[in-house]
Amino acid sequence: MTATAPGGAEDTAADRFLAQLQAFEGRPAATTGQGKDPVNEAMIRHWCEAMGDANPAYTGPDAIAPPTMLQAWTMAGLSGHSARSGAYDELLGLLDGAGCTSVVATDCEQEYLRPLRPGDTVTFDAVIECVSPRKTTRLGSGHFVTTRMDIRVGGELAGTHRFRILKYAPAAPRPAGPPPAAPSRRPERPRRPRPVVNRDNQGFWDGVRDHRLLIQRCASCATLRFPWLPGCNACASLDWDTVEACGEATVFSYVVMHHPSFPAFDPPYAVALVELAEGVRMITNITGVPYDAVRIGTPVRLEFLRVDEDQELPVFRGEAEG
Ligand code: ZN
Repeated sequence: MTATAPGGAEDTAADRFLAQLQAFEGRPAATTGQGKDPVNEAMIRHWCEAMGDANPAYTGPDAIAPPTMLQAWTMAGLSGHSARSGAYDELLGLLDGAGCTSVVATDCEQEYLRPLRPGDTVTFDAVIECVSPRKTTRLGSGHFVTTRMDIRVGGELAGTHRFRILKYAPAAPRPAGPPPAAPSRRPERPRRPRPVVNRDNQGFWDGVRDHRLLIQRCASCATLRFPWLPGCNACASLDWDTVEACGEATVFSYVVMHHPSFPAFDPPYAVALVELAEGVRMITNITGVPYDAVRIGTPVRLEFLRVDEDQELPVFRGEAEG
């Protein structure tokens, strides 16, 4: 017997669960969906501008839509649509129940069968195509779930969009210290990215150097603004002076960064949007409180954190719960 072969009873339970998951293969994930808008020139133009794609095929009287826009025509927007099936929710619920409570989109694949042109109205349905056996990844272990959406115009298949997620149980946090995979080559820790300092925000960074957090104030209408900008959003005046923040603030909102990890940062950590007593808001880090104890409304106080030999940053310290 090898050490990697688990007991028979355990195998059976895992096999049974996988069979239960794979029974969803072939069931609908979305039915009788309809594109919110017909294929149209305005969305094509915005897409091409955002992508920097100047291909002449996408403009003019014979324009087609960029094939990679396929999914855009099916998107639900903020108001959602009613095409999503109960089977997909049921499958995700089963995985939740088995501890696979986290989700990450991993990849998509598309096939293009017929060009889409302005005026086409798309319909779509989606099927749960595949649920993988349990896989272990750096994020944790779980199952890949692939759905395939068929997109049609007038009943004719125009393209397919396969979308894959990993539903997983998060791995235990890394132990402190160097990662075990590469103990022998621990390069010097990369430095945080440098802020871009230019003539529009030089005054802010001068303030940071002197341990003062400066907020711009419009010299015409007295509206405060942050971050620093050349002009006033309220009255368009280019004249300004500054007020120094008193340093009191509260957490207005926050996210906890787990992934992806950047070399100069140690996830997980909280990135907060704090509201200063003066009323403007600022994105910053919270010190003095563990990342999972940061809460909306937490009172915090300005301090200056030296992150390396030539960089200090304004951050906000919370009071740890006694
Ligand atoms: Zn103004």
